Amino acid sequence: MTANTAYAVHQITRPKAFPAASDFTYVESSVPEPRPGTALVQNLLLSVDPYHRGMMDGGEGGFELGAPLEGRSVGRVLASRDPGLVEGDLVFHRAGWRTHALVTLGADGTRKLRGHEGVPLEAYLSILGGTGLTAYAALTRTAALREGEDVFVSAAAGGVGTATGRIARLLGAGRIIGSAGSATKVRHLTESLGFDAAFDYHDGPVGEQLAKAAPDGIDVYVDNVGGGHLEGAIDVLREYGRIAWVGALSTYNGDRSPSAPRNLFEVVHKSLRLEGVLVRNHTNLQDELEDFLVPHLRSGRIGTDTTVVQGFDHTVDAFLGLFRGDNLGKMLVRIDD
Ligand code: NAP
Repeated sequence: MTANTAYAVHQITRPKAFPAASDFTYVESSVPEPRPGTALVQNLLLSVDPYHRGMMDGGEGGFELGAPLEGRSVGRVLASRDPGLVEGDLVFHRAGWRTHALVTLGADGTRKLRGHEGVPLEAYLSILGGTGLTAYAALTRTAALREGEDVFVSAAAGGVGTATGRIARLLGAGRIIGSAGSATKVRHLTESLGFDAAFDYHDGPVGEQLAKAAPDGIDVYVDNVGGGHLEGAIDVLREYGRIAWVGALSTYNGDRSPSAPRNLFEVVHKSLRLEGVLVRNHTNLQDELEDFLVPHLRSGRIGTDTTVVQGFDHTVDAFLGLFRGDNLGKMLVRIDD
């Protein structure tokens, strides 16, 4: 990498099921000059996210082939012709998957980081970013978790999953149960993250394993996975339980129409509530999230929970790793320097 060269990841083909490295290419260009009203940002950390997979299919709102992809990023302003930004400012923006970007304060979610002393930069793309905000909105608004209530979260060792566990504990949840894809992750949940119980979803039907882990039932399910996980959770939810449906990881790489939970009518029998959570509808909670979590990050009661892959040239592999379960916590890419 040279100082005058910018790099970006372009998608060049549409994946059929699981994406492959050959669906992408790294493209070089000159570092752009800021135009009036924009600032040049050098990206420091990039977020790769499961939702990017859906955008790779194209269509409305999807990624174009042969153009830079987009994703959440934090970076430092190198030069500015935006009156709201000065050199050295740290910003959050959505022009990720590239080393340099032109941004405008207030446009497309671009904002200055509040820069809490003692809080590492990774936090702004993990527990203080869209990941934490999703978990916070799911628990405090969609599920309206009350003290003492028992929570189950799937993909519990990932970004939203770990944030859900942390935030649920801080909100005074009762038992917290998680599912994840390996024995190592299960141990991490119970031994390092304070989950009361956890299981590997490969070890048997989710409903059966969950019923063993939560013999008295659960009140809230934060669903990152859909499919069999959703069906299992419906079985185990108590009357008036709530499902905050965040994602459907089990379907992103092919099976777009898994059979609906066969027990969906239990939603009626048990007076359950199932509601989708879309983080972009909760951006008004950003300051509330930071005010709530920053004291706990500073005191060390909670961590940022990230897997940080080093080097821009590993961005594609970091993204592919999400579907191999390579990450503990939020998957990020740190750009050299
Ligand atoms: P993540 O959980 O950190 O990373 C993906 C994890 O998913 C992997 O580590 C893997 O862990 C698990 N996984 C992969 N394939 C799976 C499968 N077929 N079945 C079960 N688990 C699988 O990613 P994240 O960014 O935190 O996102 C988690 C979920 O939240 C996703 O569904 C995402 O789309 C959703 N989300 C939604 C919003 C919203 O606004 N609605 C915002 C952010 C994220 P294992 O090793 O445990 O399998």
